[in-house]
Amino acid sequence: MSPKSAPSAPSTSSVTMDKIVSLCARRGFIFPSGDIYGGINGFWDYGPLGVELKNAVKAFWWQRMVRDRDDVVGIDSAIITHPRTWDASGHTENFSDPMVDCRACKKRFRADQLDDAGRCDARDGSSEHDLTEPRNFNLMLQTHIGASADAASVAHLRPETCQPIFTDFKRVREVARQKVPFGIAQVGKAFRNEITPRNFTFRSREFEQAELEFFIHPSEREKWFAHWLGERNRFHTDLGFAKESLRNRAHAADELAHYANAAEDVEYLFPFGWQEIEGIHDRGDWDLRRHTEYSGKDLSYTDAESKESFMPMCIETSMGVDRTCLALLCNAYEEEEIGEGDVRTVMHFTPEIAPIKAAVLPLSKKLAEPARALERTLRRSWNVAYDESGNIGRRYRRQDEVGTPFCLTFDFESVDDGCVTVRERDSMEQERVAITDLVSVLRERLEPVH
Ligand code: ATP
Repeated sequence: MSPKSAPSAPSTSSVTMDKIVSLCARRGFIFPSGDIYGGINGFWDYGPLGVELKNAVKAFWWQRMVRDRDDVVGIDSAIITHPRTWDASGHTENFSDPMVDCRACKKRFRADQLDDAGRCDARDGSSEHDLTEPRNFNLMLQTHIGASADAASVAHLRPETCQPIFTDFKRVREVARQKVPFGIAQVGKAFRNEITPRNFTFRSREFEQAELEFFIHPSEREKWFAHWLGERNRFHTDLGFAKESLRNRAHAADELAHYANAAEDVEYLFPFGWQEIEGIHDRGDWDLRRHTEYSGKDLSYTDAESKESFMPMCIETSMGVDRTCLALLCNAYEEEEIGEGDVRTVMHFTPEIAPIKAAVLPLSKKLAEPARALERTLRRSWNVAYDESGNIGRRYRRQDEVGTPFCLTFDFESVDDGCVTVRERDSMEQERVAITDLVSVLRERLEPVH
């Protein structure tokens, strides 16, 4: 009776973005930031359930990528880093998208995404946009440090979390007493002034990345690239994605950055098509070389045994946390027919990422006291809900809709026999379990070992 991870083949045709956006707003997963002022394009707030989902995804990632391994360590770097960082990384010069404006309706588009531009509603006799020539638009979000707002005070919010990993490389390796091969991981905010934020949180201006830079000997690029591709695919499968909704897409030679040896995207089949949620890149030694050049600090590595000195190469895994959460929301969603024309909306989250792990439902308000005591016990281990309003069927539905794996019904018999009814979300099967066994029974079902 353990919850199945996800419907084996969720039919994406029944999942639309409108349904996901509406569920997210209605149940408090994700909604526009500054909503009372009309929202702000490309910025989103995560509500009580959204933050639990996102934290669970990050915790799962951290466990897999850092804690489970003795060759990866973590950092948490500043969002604003030294301006020279972005000169060295190439972002100041090259981190731009081609942008065009419509002279009639004044809307702005990415020149390489004109399929999504829609029709112009400001021209007489034509619905075609009257477009300017493409201009490059730098995507880094700018700010000023200190009291004066002149050129010397300009800084940028990091457009990716990995660059501080490279600038911290030498110190972190030394303090962590790591030898190459080893990795540095970070989860945190990144900012991009996207020209056209769209598809809900998919393309936002503020988002989170979970990134690993794994430093290796130049002779081992293929081996480690294959290793991390395998690890990352396993991670996504274990998150509960249906196999047929995920694929790998290798970059063609003309898509690769000039310094890259190989790159593959992990793509998910969103309602709006196959799109990237993570990139796995062989970045060579480009970043460490550039930071060595721009800082004047030698970032090369000398092997203590062989005495060989070399600039480590780097395999990067870069996952978008928000995109992964959005994909998980789409993946989990099902409108399930349960007979007699009845349909329930159910989110098939795996137990690890379910925002609420169990809900305590007393059959009557008169049972509130012992039911609350049970809730308090379970709260020591998990995020648990308590709901005593409405009939029990409606309460089950409320929990199904947010993906709670187990509902625990406390009834009048519970007082005498010391048991509750445990209802499993996906099968809707019910069984009586002794309250004294509940923590261990739930632990076994909620925390499967991968
Ligand atoms: P895209 O081509 O979709 O703009 P990218 O190739 O520029 O993405 P990377 O720079 O490789 O993306 O960033 C790594 C990950 O960060 C992406 O796989 C994605 O999940 C996430 N990401 C990048 N840009 C955004 C964004 N604007 N909003 C949300 N997530 C993003």
